[in-house]
Amino acid sequence: MSKETIIDWIENNKHTYTAMAQNIWDKPQLAYQEKYASSLQMNALKQAGFSIKEKVNGIDTAFIAEYGQGAPVIGILGEFDALPGLSQKPIPEKEEVTKNGPGHGCGHNLLGTAGVQAVIALKEKMDAESLQGTIRYYGCPAEEVLSGKTYMAKAGVFDDLDCALTWHPMTSNAAMYKSMQSMVSIKFHFKGKPAHAAASPESGRSALDSVEIMNIGVNYLREHVPDGTRMHYTITDGGQAPNIVPETATVWYFLRASSKEEVEKILLRVKDIAKGSALINDTEVESELLAFPYETLPNNPLNELMYLNMLKSNPLVYTEEEQRFAEKLAKTLPSAGKPVEELLPASISYKPYKAASMPGSSDVGDVSWIAPMGMITTTCAPKGTALHSWQATASFGTEIGYKGMHLAASSMALTAYDLLINKDNILEKAKETFNELRDGKVYEAGI
Ligand SMILES: [Zn+2]
Repeated sequence: MSKETIIDWIENNKHTYTAMAQNIWDKPQLAYQEKYASSLQMNALKQAGFSIKEKVNGIDTAFIAEYGQGAPVIGILGEFDALPGLSQKPIPEKEEVTKNGPGHGCGHNLLGTAGVQAVIALKEKMDAESLQGTIRYYGCPAEEVLSGKTYMAKAGVFDDLDCALTWHPMTSNAAMYKSMQSMVSIKFHFKGKPAHAAASPESGRSALDSVEIMNIGVNYLREHVPDGTRMHYTITDGGQAPNIVPETATVWYFLRASSKEEVEKILLRVKDIAKGSALINDTEVESELLAFPYETLPNNPLNELMYLNMLKSNPLVYTEEEQRFAEKLAKTLPSAGKPVEELLPASISYKPYKAASMPGSSDVGDVSWIAPMGMITTTCAPKGTALHSWQATASFGTEIGYKGMHLAASSMALTAYDLLINKDNILEKAKETFNELRDGKVYEAGI
């Protein structure tokens, strides 16, 4: 039987999933608080005949939906958390829905929904052809704080996967040919002694001074780390008022590099800087590790198969209205004025992974160290739109976003189908690549 039936199913049912993604976009929820989104998806999957495992590793919004039995076991990874401060209406001018409210500036309203759509489409096909195998949708919370999948991994829920598939909303249709960097998220809490800042500053020890000294130290470190390393911070507690010597202060760091091993080395040096800063002005410091995902291991055999299935899927076609939205939005982007060939790229490209890294990070990195993982991107916003921007939130709440989501769902469902029937021994090839990339190292959760 042809794969056309999957493509048709996606096409005929697209409004249901557009509505799901729209509802999640309308009610953005931050990391670990995605109750609405996770129950919406769980209900749809339950209704479609999937068995649901709720509260994975005790996390309220982490769940797994499963259908079928036996080998192979194919997982599709979904996400649904939003970002703080990115509230925006689905229009090409900056206008919040809620002042300082959250928004789907990373398109996770689309990311998870495409996964739900893909596994339900696949289930229909499995029933029609009495196919053997297990398919799973992983409802993964808290990607934006980069720890949801690590906590799920600690419960062993990815261990029996033959492979995993995922995607990310972006501004082009392609397979991921670069590795996303490993990253540590860590807070340094300094404790000093409070005092009246004018009357008796000599009896105080400023925790904020330690934070400032530490940041200077880290800024001097920048020259002496590998190219591509990223070190960024915010001061989340800097004291209460200038006339009180701050007793407590906290700085929150993200450190990123091309491999987890490299991040570990940089982290040791940053921890030494924190200790030195406390010593300099007589305070104390404690660190709090929040997340530490691996770099991703791009799997060429899976990525190429996803690419081929993207080509087989219904192509992206935009209305004049969508083109006008894109043109207007493009005028607000940093790239405004530069010539762009295709503002809404419908073309599809493939490049094999060759050991290059991109600056960003994701907790999908952890899954890619446990099982072979394929990943694509689709056009969900006009070219030049950066993720985590108001322009991204706007696009991901329009038909432009939903069209990219349907393409991703179709590509993942078609690929999972090929994997279920083990077309061209693709699972073996994916495992070979996975083992080559891991090079004998075994996954160990970073938190
Ligand atoms: Zn994201």
